[in-house]
Amino acid sequence: MTDGTARIAVIEDEVSIAQAIAARLRNEGYTVDVAHDGPTGVALVQRTSPDLVVLDLMLPGFDGLEVCRQIQREHWVPVLMLTARDSEADLIIGLSVGADDYMTKPFSARELVARVSAMLRRVARLQQPPSSTSEIVRVGCIELDPATRKVVVGGEAVHLTPTEFELVTYLGTRPGRVVTREELLENVWGYDFPAGGRTVDSHVRSVRRKLGADIVRTVHGVGYAIDESAVAQ
Ligand code: CA
Repeated sequence: MTDGTARIAVIEDEVSIAQAIAARLRNEGYTVDVAHDGPTGVALVQRTSPDLVVLDLMLPGFDGLEVCRQIQREHWVPVLMLTARDSEADLIIGLSVGADDYMTKPFSARELVARVSAMLRRVARLQQPPSSTSEIVRVGCIELDPATRKVVVGGEAVHLTPTEFELVTYLGTRPGRVVTREELLENVWGYDFPAGGRTVDSHVRSVRRKLGADIVRTVHGVGYAIDESAVAQ
């Protein structure tokens, strides 16, 4: 799958917004299908197996979170969630329903295209088979297996989304180093976008809920680190 040939599902009940998004993405060479409510959106995704889903949070039928849950059941697909408020980011990412990124309305078509393109590049990278030489990363009480993308904390397997796994691996392979939000955006998300720091913060909160609050250290005003001494409490 190269960037321009990807298939994208747009699930958005405001018809004018859905049409504008679809037109812009088609203009970039993507194949785009559109649905205007939750149940139709789920059916669309099941029928077309898109490479990426642009999903509005507030939808008739059932909302974007429920759509996310249902479409992630069979296999992971990256979701760019559209929200009315910035404060919804934590809700979306924290529920670990698989939303990888979010945009707050109103947004520019240019930014949407840039985000979609970055997400597709990242997915292509995630889908490459891990190098056979990749070794298990051990940092503090965490074990990360790049070959299976599994994480074990204090002997217990913990489920992380692909994005969360990449985030923890990026920090864990640089133990003790404070990594800025910008560096994380560039390397984990593949695109440093305005206000992207919130996406990083929300994912870190989600990782802490799963792995333990003390695993990822915050360095205020700078960024995040995972230390050799990291221990789940
Ligand atoms: Ca809506």
